[in-house]
Amino acid sequence: MTDETASRPDSFQPPVGIDLGTTFSVLAYLDATGRPTTLPNRSGELLTPSAVAFEQDEIIVGREAIKGSVVAPEGFADCFKRDMGRDAYHHAVAGREIPPEVLSAFLLERLKLDAEQRLGPIRQAVITVPAFFDELRREATQEAGRLAGLEVLDIINEPTAAAVAFGYHKALLAPAPRRGARPERLLVYDLGGGTFDVTILEIDGSTFRTLATDGDVLLGGKDFDRRLVDFVAENFLAEHHLDPRTDPHDAAALWIDVEAAKHALSERAKTTIVCSHQGVRMRQDISRETFESLTLDLLGRTETTTRLVVRQAGLGWDMIDRVLLVGGSTRMPAVVDMLRRVSGKEPDRSQSADEAVAHGAALYAAMLMHAPAASRLAGLRLVNVNSHSLGLVGIEPETNRRMSVALIPKNTPLPAARSKRFKTARANQHTVRVAIVEGESPRPEHCIPLGKCIIRDLPGELPAGTRIDVRYEYAANGRLSVSAQIPSTGQSAAVEIERKATGDLDSLDRWRPGHPESRVIAEHTPLPFPKPPQAKPGPTRGPERAVLLKQLDELYIRIGSHAITARVTEWLEESRQAARDTADALREAEQTLGRVEADYESIVDRVAKTQAAAGIARARLDVQNARAKARFALLDLGRECAEAGMAPRGMESLLGEIRRLERRVK
Ligand code: AMP
Repeated sequence: MTDETASRPDSFQPPVGIDLGTTFSVLAYLDATGRPTTLPNRSGELLTPSAVAFEQDEIIVGREAIKGSVVAPEGFADCFKRDMGRDAYHHAVAGREIPPEVLSAFLLERLKLDAEQRLGPIRQAVITVPAFFDELRREATQEAGRLAGLEVLDIINEPTAAAVAFGYHKALLAPAPRRGARPERLLVYDLGGGTFDVTILEIDGSTFRTLATDGDVLLGGKDFDRRLVDFVAENFLAEHHLDPRTDPHDAAALWIDVEAAKHALSERAKTTIVCSHQGVRMRQDISRETFESLTLDLLGRTETTTRLVVRQAGLGWDMIDRVLLVGGSTRMPAVVDMLRRVSGKEPDRSQSADEAVAHGAALYAAMLMHAPAASRLAGLRLVNVNSHSLGLVGIEPETNRRMSVALIPKNTPLPAARSKRFKTARANQHTVRVAIVEGESPRPEHCIPLGKCIIRDLPGELPAGTRIDVRYEYAANGRLSVSAQIPSTGQSAAVEIERKATGDLDSLDRWRPGHPESRVIAEHTPLPFPKPPQAKPGPTRGPERAVLLKQLDELYIRIGSHAITARVTEWLEESRQAARDTADALREAEQTLGRVEADYESIVDRVAKTQAAAGIARARLDVQNARAKARFALLDLGRECAEAGMAPRGMESLLGEIRRLERRVK
């Protein structure tokens, strides 16, 4: 331990902020003078690559994990931040299915341990998320922090954190705004390794008010790398009839070289990439011009979003004082040129593209912890907006289709709450279920399903048509909570948001290599179906429970797949329609994929071919997404059937099997 810990009481912990990035993560703290400072990791690097490798009996994090990816790619995972909160996107690592939250937790744990070598024990931290992260991804980030042994004081948006760091450095953070001073308006363009956000903020003294935000959680430096990887690999294929992407070792080496080449192209007009595969080496010269034409559409997507956000904020470019660049990918000259052209201003690169977010998070942590070194931050106030509309799903009477009705529209200042009145359909109804989604589309299958809001244990003997007021509330950090009231009786009702189970994440230990329980998980995939439940009394915990939950899910899906066409009671109609809609959406996505794959064959130009290959990758991702949604909708329908004790004809025996499994996992 260094002198930073020498003279402080045991209970003291310096405020810590963590930028949990897709490609790099950064931990910063506020030093004794109140200055945000990045803490190097145990290897002395300020940025820790967000990469994890599983070796025989240890977890490797950061640069060493990336190096190891060339030798043992099967034990390596990166880019997991993009998949946070997405149940269908577990990463296959070293023969196991690891949830992205667990991978993020290993990374956070390492950042914490490294920082503790300098700062002493750390318990509390603020973690940042892209402004465009939906509620599920925010929850998953909080969960990763908890698994890593951290008390997450709050999660804040990356652009807000960057703006706080900017405000601090520009001495804008003052207890009260100067009289007559106009608030400064900032557009934060944040292009990192895997996500893109653009946010407009107003800084008024020490109040940071977000006016509008938009973005793309599936767009970042990695996508620019992929274009170059595909281009180099396609050239190799054309020349030598061999594809380096088919060998995981050569592919890992190519990704590393390509990223270095991309960085070089930010400095100079030309560079060389050497690609090796099956004993063949090929040198390829790449110009900045070629790289920019390969990635023109990606940059174009960020331009469209940027223009859109300015419009959403109801502003013109002349009303924006500054364009602030954040994220490593803003070092690409094409980004700066585009923003200069679009905004008519010279983009501000005064903040460290890599560190500003962690610094802002540390400043915010200091304010939350009332740190003595941060007395200037006492009045710091962050006002966010919700990045996605919150919608309730109902059936439109005219068309009998499921529709999402926006309750809290996107870009509403937080905290925000709205109430909605429901009526019970039957006398003595004990439960009301409402599907909730985030997203802008009126079609629920195009939105992000948050789960079902379930109002349980309604008092007995309520007549049909009893009114229930349900209040949906976004907290300042974008997390959602729900409460319910029955006006006629003055009682409140228990409400929970039922989400798709993410498996058993109660401790990080059981995911460590060598842990006795981890082997069970390794062996269970894929599950033979249907598997007779083992007769073992009492509740089941640990990985075995995860196996049982999977079996249970498969049974629900089986019932759901039949219920989609069977006659069901009226109150199951909504879930059945959901299953039909998502099945239609999956068919559409598969057709699109078929079309782009067929078009690909007819393209001759190399650059156009690489762009078309990217289109195929995107279409495949859409199919994957649609498949996950369709599966979830079937599961939901099956579960509702099972709850109501109804099974389609010929499947009645499954209900007994379901009950047995349910008892074991309860
Ligand atoms: P961040 O998530 O903000 O750490 O950004 C990481 C991304 O920035 C990665 O995709 C890097 O390849 C990219 N990046 C970092 N430096 C440069 C550079 N000089 N030129 C282009 N991209 C860069």
